[in-house]
Order: sequence, then structure tokens, then C-alpha cells
Amino acid sequence: MAHAIDVALLEKIKKHGADGTLNVSACFNCGNCTAVCPLAEDSAGFPRRIIRMAQVGMEKELLAQEDLWRCYACGECTKTCPREADPMQFMAAARSYAISRYDATGLSGLMYRSPVFNIIVFLVLSGFFSLLLLRRKGEMAMGSNGNLFSGYGSTQLFRFIPGEWVHGIGIALFIVIGLTLAFGVVSMVARVMGRKNQAGERPPYPIAALIPSIWSAIVDALNHDRFRQCDKDEPAPSEPLHLRAWFVHGTIMWGFLAMLLATTLDYLFKPIGSPVPPWYPMRILGLVGGLVCLYGLSIAIGRRIQAKETPYDKSSFGDWFFLVLLTATVLTGLGTLIVVYMPHPTLFGYVTFMSHIVLAMDLIVLLPLTKFAHVVYRTLALALHEWAKAPAPETAAAVATHS
Ligand code: SF4
Ligand code: SF4
Repeated sequence: MAHAIDVALLEKIKKHGADGTLNVSACFNCGNCTAVCPLAEDSAGFPRRIIRMAQVGMEKELLAQEDLWRCYACGECTKTCPREADPMQFMAAARSYAISRYDATGLSGLMYRSPVFNIIVFLVLSGFFSLLLLRRKGEMAMGSNGNLFSGYGSTQLFRFIPGEWVHGIGIALFIVIGLTLAFGVVSMVARVMGRKNQAGERPPYPIAALIPSIWSAIVDALNHDRFRQCDKDEPAPSEPLHLRAWFVHGTIMWGFLAMLLATTLDYLFKPIGSPVPPWYPMRILGLVGGLVCLYGLSIAIGRRIQAKETPYDKSSFGDWFFLVLLTATVLTGLGTLIVVYMPHPTLFGYVTFMSHIVLAMDLIVLLPLTKFAHVVYRTLALALHEWAKAPAPETAAAVATHS
């Protein structure tokens, strides 16, 4: 089979690395990383094979590897690489490169490579959403005494920024982002499913195995099953459960999902802006989710600030941007939960509330373009990987007959 070669591929991927020092060219394909990787399922050369593809410029093949997303950045390979080629950072950079190539707008690549462009996009989006919301507020204030902050109870923040606007903009964003993400997802699925093995054959991808594969991937993602395997080779885990990497990552994800669920249930079952007591179930769910998420984020940020050991010693701008944006969104969300129960409306309360809405909108808009996209691509890759392993119907029937 003829392969299109991109001689600049390795250099392009390096630009997505943490600090421009990715030394993956030093890899001499010894296979040590494959031997130590707790997630290498067979002798297929995970992650060494993907490094080799980058070295020889096989971009099409590299972008068709769902294996990129089956790495959980535990760092075992980097700790033992005899050439200090940092395979873990390579995999992270290759994932970031893949996101930028799946994205049809080209914005993702710019965001990953250019911190300045990243910040400009963030500021423009924040300014746009702020003006949109404040303009609406201005129109509302025209009929009263013109004071932005008078006349509203602190439990009535949605009169300051009408809930219909917040939810209307939110739904519009979900549609735009959904379409953007859908293009990326289709691009990835087409590449992975179009890939042939060394015998020149494609996996059968039997329809009957599609739903079980998706279900298995969702359960894996929620449970962090593969992430936990990164600890399995340790006879005695060096850290208590609450500090283990998979658990910390889990608290960020589980807390975020709890907040998302609370917001969705609020929208579906409670009139917008109607006051509810602090023990209202969705409020408690949002509060607990926010605190759990904040716990995970504080550990993750603390480790990256200390930068003491692999895998936290090198962080890309994209790592920081995502962590900081998510933390700011959660903090202002928790702040909003508090200010709605303050006895009097305050400027601080309204600023907190509005900041939360703007940051949450930024987070949604930037989902397909930033590290946040890993939530979608990783789950999809796990599903495709499971699906590819499912036997063709005739093979499964033959096995059933002989067993
Ligand atoms: S990345 Fe390091 S351990 Fe892996 S094959 Fe290359 S030189 Fe060997
Ligand atoms: S970082 Fe961990 S999971 Fe990823 S390739 Fe290296 S050893 Fe395997």
C-alpha cells in the first residue's frame, strides 16, 4: 500500500508539545515504552508504533489511530525511556494535533499553537457575551430608575439577566457547538473505520456490536476503568486513594457532570428564576458537584504548579487554559449559589452571576477547540476500539456452534 508522507509531521506535532522541548526524534524504537505501558494490550507496539508513524511522516495513518486516546498519560513510559524521548508528552501532543486536524474550522490548531490567539478568542467571546447580556439589562433598566442594581432581590438574579436569554443563548450555543463537534467526530470516525490492518483488511464492525461498544465505552469513561489500570502494576500504591491520578481526574469529571445535571434538571423542572430554598435537591446536587469538582481541580493545578514529577512536570498552554477556565467557571458557579441567598442584592453578587454565565458560555463554545474535546474523542475512541474487536456475525456464529 502506498503511503502519503508528510516530512514535516513530527515538527508539526512538536509544536503542540508542552514547552517546545519534545525530544521524540531521539526515539530509536527500542520498545521499552510498550513493555512498561500498563495499557498496552498486546505486542502491537502501543505507543511505540504511533511514534514511528510520526517519525516517518505517516499522517493519514496516525490520525486514524484510536490508540492515541487510549493513553491516559500516566507517564510510566516517559520515566523508563532510555532516550528521554518523553513518549507520554508525545502522545499528548499527538492528541492535540489530531483534534486540530479533525476540526474543519482550523481554529483549534491556532488555539493550541498560539497562546496569544487563545487569549484573544477568550476575550472576544467574553466581551461579546457580556455586551449581549448587559445590553439586554440596559433595555430593562430604561423603564425603571436607570440604576442597574436597584429594585431586585438577591434571590432574583434572573431578573438582572433574564433567564430566557441565558437559556436561549445556551441552546443556540449547543447547536453551533454540536455541529462543529459533529464534523470533528465524523472526520475521526471515518479515518479510524477506514483504516486497514497489515493484511489489508478492515475490521467487520458488526452492527449488532455497535450499541454494546458505545455502552462499554461510556461505562469505562465514567468508571475510569482503563485509567485505574495505570496503577495496577504497583504492588503497593504510593499514594492514598484520594490522591491517585484516576481518582482526582474522576472527581473533576463526576463533579462537572453533577453540576451539568443540576443545571439541566433546573431548566426542565423549575420555572426560570423562581426562588427555591437552599435544600432544594438541584441546589444541593449543584453544590456537592461544584465542591467535588473544585477538589479535583485544586489537586490537578497544585501538581502542575509544583511540577515535581512526571506526568505533571511539563504543561502546555492548552493544559493550563482548560484547567483555569474550568476552575473559574466552577468558582463563580459556587459563588452564585451563595449570593442568591444573601439578604440584599450586591454588586458583587451580580458580577459573580454574570461572570459565571459568561465563563460557562466560553467553556461551551470552546469545547470542540480545546482540551475539553478529549471528553468526546476519548469516549468515541474507546467505543471504536471495542467495536473493532467484535467478531463478524458469521465468525461469532461459528464459535457459538463449536462451543
Ligand atoms: S519512546 Fe523511548 S522507550 Fe519508547 S521506543 Fe522510543 S526510545 Fe524506546
Ligand atoms: S503515558 Fe502511560 S498509558 Fe500512555 S503510553 Fe505511556 S505508559 Fe502507556
